[in-house]
Amino acid sequence: MIQLVRNYMEDILDLILPNVLNDCNGICKCSQCVEDIKAIALNNLQPHYVVTEKGMVYTKVNELVVQFRADVIKEAVRAIDIVSMNPRHVIE
Ligand SMILES: [Zn+2]
Repeated sequence: MIQLVRNYMEDILDLILPNVLNDCNGICKCSQCVEDIKAIALNNLQPHYVVTEKGMVYTKVNELVVQFRADVIKEAVRAIDIVSMNPRHVIE
């Protein structure tokens, strides 16, 4: 059995970020900007590491979403502000 260390915050952010992005008009949603937003938000969030079996469904994610939702949204919004003011994508 392969055990993996995962940061649950990353899963929670992946679940919540699309909704936050949907609510933001006029911001770039290219993959470069979205990845930058994720990185900044994750750096500012307290990580929540768990050991899980590879391929296992993260049954606890939904519970943790409830617990950390407000923090994750706050950091996602802040990261969106930072990235939209200074995007790193190449403008063609
Ligand atoms: Zn972009």
